[in-house]
Amino acid sequence: MPTILLPTPLRPYADGQTAVAAAGETVEEALRDLVRRFPKLARHLYDEGGRLRSFVNVYKNDEDVRHLEGGRTALAASDSLTIVPSIAGGAPGGSQALAAPPQAGLSHEEIRRYSRHLIIPEVGLAGQKRLKAAKVLCVGAGGLGSPLALYLAAAGVGTLGVVDFDVVDESNLQRQILHGTADVGRPKLRSAAERIRAVNPHVRFVPHELRLDSANALDLLRGYDVVADGTDNFPTRYLVNDACALLGKPNVWASIFRFEGQATVFWAGHGPCYRCLYPEPPPPGLVPSCAEGGVLGVLPGLLGVIQASETIKLLLGAGEPLLGRLLLVDALSMRFRELKLRRDPDCSLCGPNRTQTTLVDYAEFCGLPQAAAEEQRVQGVPSLSVEELSSRLQTGEDLLLLDVRDPHEVEICAFEGSLRIPLVALSENLHRLSTAEEIVVHCKVGGRSAKAVELLLASGFRKVRNLAGGIDAWAERIDPAMPRY
Ligand SMILES: [Zn+2]
Repeated sequence: MPTILLPTPLRPYADGQTAVAAAGETVEEALRDLVRRFPKLARHLYDEGGRLRSFVNVYKNDEDVRHLEGGRTALAASDSLTIVPSIAGGAPGGSQALAAPPQAGLSHEEIRRYSRHLIIPEVGLAGQKRLKAAKVLCVGAGGLGSPLALYLAAAGVGTLGVVDFDVVDESNLQRQILHGTADVGRPKLRSAAERIRAVNPHVRFVPHELRLDSANALDLLRGYDVVADGTDNFPTRYLVNDACALLGKPNVWASIFRFEGQATVFWAGHGPCYRCLYPEPPPPGLVPSCAEGGVLGVLPGLLGVIQASETIKLLLGAGEPLLGRLLLVDALSMRFRELKLRRDPDCSLCGPNRTQTTLVDYAEFCGLPQAAAEEQRVQGVPSLSVEELSSRLQTGEDLLLLDVRDPHEVEICAFEGSLRIPLVALSENLHRLSTAEEIVVHCKVGGRSAKAVELLLASGFRKVRNLAGGIDAWAERIDPAMPRY
């Protein structure tokens, strides 16, 4: 039977499996068999009309089935199908197409510093001068942006711009190696500037402390030769893609989730753009972000260094860029796979009949207004505050605390005596709850538990309330001894 390989975000809906043998002689039959056996996958793979969602791509071996016969593509028992959802992460002439930068001279000191580059034939003095004359923009000074900016600076890229408006948070330090413990609370660009200057004072560091948007992106990107996208959200990812495509700039791209990463080079006119791959973003909330799903600390290191390598190759005009190829990295099995990416002839942005010639409203495009409406709905479910819960527990009132977080979160902190059923398993465990009982549902910050409250209300439970702010609010306001994560 053909094997279907599942990415991390979909595994919870398939009992945690990474690969599933599915019966079927075509792609469509195999996918239907998969969904028959794991019905919870259905809403992640198919839309309400029963069509495969546009942010889910399916590959037979290394070919996108859209470039074969779509769902009717025949499958043999030895074939594998890879599902590649967009994740919260060949060079015709290749880099020669980058405008030849003006030659910049190197001082004796720079010659000593870059000597291990100068003795590689593919770099040499001419290549090092190209790097010195080059201007690279890193979008984001976070997990991917940290190794990316550090290695580009060390390699001698002459002008390094970084866009970021965030401040360093303690939870960033596990992976964002531009920032140190003493930088917590400071703007990321300030610690980035200091680190980069310490690594290589010959680099001109240009901080752009702003939120990239449709009004400023084109002007900002125009001044750079290569853009490296290290963002973690869909609006910025589409914005960077569109601005790069409109300006004809290469976009060295990567994304990460838990143990998995993806990397490629998008370059309209030379290869596909991000919209060729994913014409539309997933609906908000369907794809978890690193903040919700977590990420292995070294993973952005792996992927950011791949981005740095691709950037340097483009600037040197050396080797074969990751253009038209999607590199999949699975750090858990330490396997690298490669899928072919093709330009979409119907792409609205880079196809011959393109309809999009300007930047759009990316918050709107990515459904953030719906997300805000969803949030309001979440706030609309019956709830109680942690203070109210505290006083009710003190008076010894009889109520059931239902914890819908995943087991590995429960291990970090939990309420004593709570009933623990992860949200994904709630619908099949309703028999463990009584409608007569008063139930308070909680998760980490209140989003998943609000969904659980909705599910319970829809299933006939009446005395159900959501704990506003979740166990995190409890740890913050009621019990400071409880760890926060
Ligand atoms: Zn395109």
